[in-house]
Amino acid sequence: MKKHNFSAGPCILAPEVLQGAAAAVENFAGMDLSLIEISHRDKKFVAVMDEAIALSKELMGLDESYEVLFLQGGASLQFAMVPYNLLKQGGKAGYTVTGTWAKKAAEEAKLFGQVEVLGSSADKNFNYIPKGYTVGDDLDYFHCTSNNTIFGTQMKDFPSTHVPLVCDMSSDIFSRQLDFTQFDLIYAGAQKNLGPAGATLVAVKKDVLGKTGRTIPSMLDYQTHIDGESMFNTPPVFSVYTSLLTLRWMKAQGGLAAMEKHNAEKAALLYAEIDRNALFYGTAAKEDRSDMNACFLLHDEAHSEQFNTLWKEAGIVGINGHRSVGGYRASMYNALPLESVQVLVDVMQHLEKTI
Ligand SMILES: *Cc1c(COP(=O)(O)O)cnc(C)c1O
Repeated sequence: MKKHNFSAGPCILAPEVLQGAAAAVENFAGMDLSLIEISHRDKKFVAVMDEAIALSKELMGLDESYEVLFLQGGASLQFAMVPYNLLKQGGKAGYTVTGTWAKKAAEEAKLFGQVEVLGSSADKNFNYIPKGYTVGDDLDYFHCTSNNTIFGTQMKDFPSTHVPLVCDMSSDIFSRQLDFTQFDLIYAGAQKNLGPAGATLVAVKKDVLGKTGRTIPSMLDYQTHIDGESMFNTPPVFSVYTSLLTLRWMKAQGGLAAMEKHNAEKAALLYAEIDRNALFYGTAAKEDRSDMNACFLLHDEAHSEQFNTLWKEAGIVGINGHRSVGGYRASMYNALPLESVQVLVDVMQHLEKTI
């Protein structure tokens, strides 16, 4: 049965990406060897890494003042690597606390120096994006989370700062057009819009590095990976290759302009139904709603059994909300077709008619 995969991450990838990845596991680049049993130093794999880096930069419109890296340890390791590399001894960093991941990032930074929380939405269970704060010039950097995967809120614009701007884009990287040059460091675990878990994309403006006076263990030092061209140690070859296939797929679809248009259509369709259908309500403030993760609840819990049966029968998977919000969360990453959102909307309307 055809599944409609709304999983929050790891998540849906394009069918041609999955086919290409499967084929390369058996026979990579006509070598009669598997992608996962050859040396990562083989020139055919080095070409994969080079193209993945070049395409990432191209899609984000980043010039040679930036380096793109494919690292390991997930976005969670970036919570520590960012302060390790950017926070001076005795220095201070600014953080927004807009969800579970943002909170973890801020907590981790406290191991390295002072953290000033500049905007928090903890007072309303993270259902909005704080605005109107000022990012002081005394900070070593300012960190924000562009999309709050668990609570379904998304920053639509970013503060202008005189200090380096760092952003966790794990759950909306490559989903929309942005001026990526406003950021000095961007990171994202691959498994939400790019590929399988294992690789973490980092884009860093070179001139923000090397200013802390800290001695950094080599694996945690961005400079090590810049010098090693993301091959300082064995990279996660399968994740990098599959990410490359997604990058090629995005480019072929028309790049980030096309991704944004498609994602906006899907989000508009689902939010319109959440707002129209009297059985449901959305949890995030309307102006801050995420185009990637839509969180919604039933007004009357008594209908949940029937709703759950209906969506499961329709082939929908992965829409149970995170335990900290409850209800439902439909994640609509780049590769999710509009048709899948229509199936969910149809189920919501069906429920309405039967009640
Ligand atoms: C999923 C997620 C993370 C954690 O990613 P890992 O790669 O599992 O460490 C961090 N930040 C955001 C915004 C996420 O959605």
